[in-house]
Amino acid sequence: MVSVARKIDMYDNVKPPRCTSCGRLIEPGSIAVSFPCPSCGEVTIWRCAKCRRQGSPYTCPNCGFTGP
Ligand SMILES: [Zn+2]
Ligand SMILES: [Zn+2]
Repeated sequence: MVSVARKIDMYDNVKPPRCTSCGRLIEPGSIAVSFPCPSCGEVTIWRCAKCRRQGSPYTCPNCGFTGP
């Protein structure tokens, strides 16, 4: 699985991304990772820098897949 770390420059005010692990909004300018769910591929998983560092687990809201 390849995940891409990227800086959030464009901020979607209508539907701001939330960290799938901790539920916090991804702040503009922060380094976050987004990737499609490895199981169902239908949901974009977001992980904030803090959760990446801590290796917090996430759960896909669509299929319930849990992973680091
Ligand atoms: Zn987080
Ligand atoms: Zn899924």
